Parts: sequence; C-alpha cells; structure tokens
Amino acid sequence: MLRLRKLINPGIDEIAPTPEMFLRQMGGPVMIFVEGQRTDRCRGLVTLLHGNEPSGLKALHAWLLTQQKPLYNLICFIPSVLAALSEPIFTHRTFVGQRDMNRCFLPPYNDEPGLLAEEILALLAEFEPECVIDMHNTSGHSPDFGVVTLQDSAHEALVALFSNRLIVTNLRLGALMETSTQHCPVVTVECGGAMDQAADEIARAGLQRYLHDEEVLQLPPGCEIDLYHHPVRLELSRDAAIAYAQHYVLGTDLTIPPDLDRYNFELVEAGTVIGWVGQDRRSAMRVRNAAGEDVFEQYFHITGNQLLTRRALKLFMITTRPEIAVSDCLLYAAMESEHEMLYT
Ligand SMILES: [Zn+2]
Repeated sequence: MLRLRKLINPGIDEIAPTPEMFLRQMGGPVMIFVEGQRTDRCRGLVTLLHGNEPSGLKALHAWLLTQQKPLYNLICFIPSVLAALSEPIFTHRTFVGQRDMNRCFLPPYNDEPGLLAEEILALLAEFEPECVIDMHNTSGHSPDFGVVTLQDSAHEALVALFSNRLIVTNLRLGALMETSTQHCPVVTVECGGAMDQAADEIARAGLQRYLHDEEVLQLPPGCEIDLYHHPVRLELSRDAAIAYAQHYVLGTDLTIPPDLDRYNFELVEAGTVIGWVGQDRRSAMRVRNAAGEDVFEQYFHITGNQLLTRRALKLFMITTRPEIAVSDCLLYAAMESEHEMLYT
C-alpha cells in the first residue's frame, strides 16, 4: 500500500508558504509525523477528508510553519488532496467519480478511497494515538459543533477544545469517528462554515490546545456542553429535482428556501415550513434513523404543497448546496432539545 506520501518531522524548507502551495507540493494524500517533546504518547489528527473543508488544513499548515514541537508525538493525515486541488480549489468534497472519503471507513475496502481509508486505519493501529480528532467544515453557514458515536467524558473533552455543542449519533455511515473506542476516542469537529473566518480561528485555537495541552481527555471544571441526541437525516432520492428559492419552483420535487440554514442549531416550532413539494410529494424524501427506517411521519408532514415540521425540532447541518442535499442529506433533526450542564 503506497497511497500515502509520508513526511516525518518536516523542516521549514519542506513546507510551502501557503496551504494551497503546500497541497500542490504534496500532490496527493499525505501522512505527517511530528515527534513530540515527550514521546511516550501520540495524538492523532485527520483533516481534509472532504476537499472543500479547509479550516483544519489551514490551522495545521500554519502550525507546521512555526516549527514547534508538540507536547506529545503527532500523527496527521490529509487524505483528499486531489479533491481539494481540483479547480476551483477547495470547492470539491470528493475527487470526481469517487465515493465520499468519510463514508469509506467500513469494509469492504475495494476502491481508491476505501483503500486509502484502510491504509489510514492500519497506520492509526500501528502508531496507537491516545485519541484522534477529525476536523471538518460545514458546507453552509453554521456554528461550530462536534459529533461523536460514543459518549463519555473523554469524547466530550476532545470536542470541548473546539466547541460546546455536541451531537451524539448512532447513525452508521462509514465515517472515521465510527471507529472510536474508549481506548482511543475519535471525534469529528465541525469548525463552522468552510468560508467563514471564524471557523479558521476555531480550528487554529483548538489545534493549539490539542497539540500543546497536557490533558485533553478530561473536561475542565465548569465546562458546559450542549448535547443533541440521536438525530435523523432528511434524505432525498438521487434523482430528486430540487431548487433553492423563496417559492415553489415548478417541476421540482422539493424547493427549499435559500436561507433555511438560518435554523442551524435553532429549536424550530411545530409547523415550520421547510420547503415546498411537487406532485409526487413524499416519494423523493425519506427521514432515516439509525436503524435505517423511514420515520418521516414522526418528524414532518405535508399540507398542500408545504413540507412542515410535525413537532418542535432542533435542526442542524442544513446544507444550501443542492449537490450535497441530494448526494448526502438536506439536514439533520433531533427531536428533543437538551441542555445539560456537566461538571459545573
Ligand atoms: Zn466534512
């Protein structure tokens, strides 16, 4: 397996001065190892699993240029370099014709992104980091949040380096975080919108703590985390015709208001309009829970041509990009809104 280029303790002359130039210099997926001030532990970092989500890469690149030593050994992976470099740069989630890299961490590993995922997992098993953070951006505007598939104080503490919102999901899609164990917690961090400067700053500050703090697996006293449990996904069929507009667009299966993402992490009341549906109404949509069941009726309903929330819901990861709405999902919804105060 030789998919990953390996950079060990890269010197300043091995790191081009901008993130874009650095990616061109790498030319493909890369693993970077940086020896720590102490070498008895290792921490893991993955970023740019999606080529259009550069905040983590920018933060890592800026940190590499400082030539600091992390407190402990660091192993990093930058997988979707080719997707990111496809013109226009940082606009392609996947490399053309390939599967979503963050849906490939489940066997069988029999295509290019699957084999790369397998290689990353093998190296993580070899280096045995005490934890792994996978840094992403959302496609639309969104505040920062974390996602975990296992919930305990170590997972919460890792997310809290970046955000105080935490989604706990039992959805299984083949994402890296699904490989998490209590022995090696793996968390997803969504730093915020891909083009938002605030997201770059959250990535930078969180990474600084992750690489230099002695303790990252224990929540600091007084830290509050907002928890969102077991969201469902509103998915559209692959051939769904959709549009973003303020009124129903003739011929579409679903028209979505272009500012729907203003509801991100908001509690919306029952009866909130999510969009307008076509003649076929329900057939282009499904609401998938972790068991893979369609639970549309529990969350939404259709009146006339309006798609409405059936009950008060917390919505998040609402995308305003039609290709992502169709190929992945339009939004996530959680039925309960929980504000838990932990360790106060
Ligand atoms: Zn992503």
